[in-house]
Amino acid sequence: MTTLADLDSRVVNCRACPRLVAWREDVGVVKRAAFRDQDYWARPVPGFGPADAPLAVIGLAPAAHGANRTGRMFTGDRSGEVLFAALHAVGLASQPTATHIGDGLELRGVRMTAPVKCAPPQNKPTPGERDNCRSWLVEELALMRRTLRGIVVLGAFGWQALLPILKFAWSVPSPRPRFAHNTTLTLDAVDGGAPLTLFPCYHVSQRNTQTGLLTPAMLEEVLRHAGRRTGLLEDS
Ligand code: SF4
Repeated sequence: MTTLADLDSRVVNCRACPRLVAWREDVGVVKRAAFRDQDYWARPVPGFGPADAPLAVIGLAPAAHGANRTGRMFTGDRSGEVLFAALHAVGLASQPTATHIGDGLELRGVRMTAPVKCAPPQNKPTPGERDNCRSWLVEELALMRRTLRGIVVLGAFGWQALLPILKFAWSVPSPRPRFAHNTTLTLDAVDGGAPLTLFPCYHVSQRNTQTGLLTPAMLEEVLRHAGRRTGLLEDS
């Protein structure tokens, strides 16, 4: 039987998108000055977190000098600093910082992943690249299907990429619902399994956190709500 570990080992060898393969590898050679002495991962970034997680956190794609450098989702960039601090604050991560694989960080009942697994130029995959990558996340979510009850969706681009993917197991309304921060959308199952609740949240990008569009308190509120609805956190 295929496991998430099997899937991850296949994902990291994918080369289906020539533009993204060239970009992610080039970034790993040129590097950012601050990381000149480090070996970049420069490959597709697999999901991170337990296979039986009730909750997923999904953005859009890895960052060039963050996950594309460290090999772990949201690890090693400013977005991740904000996200992991909030996950720790609400009790869903073992520590508030994420610097590299092997830093001791564990997620509690949460798996982090993305609809596009390679870092794209300007953080913008093409529609073709997004579609190429779709089957990886379908397979990943199918393997999580038994326990998955909720997804925190970071940003409108991630929202647009994710909704079509969910059709393999859940009923997605048409026209597709618009992204709206700190709302909830529950999708009924089409496969006889449990429903899935989506928790849209502004992306943890530097632009959003530096302008105050998304504050740590706002992020924690969404994560706390999602954690309670999926049974990971107790109601206060
Ligand atoms: S974006 Fe997805 S489909 Fe494209 S090369 Fe990376 S892992 Fe493969």
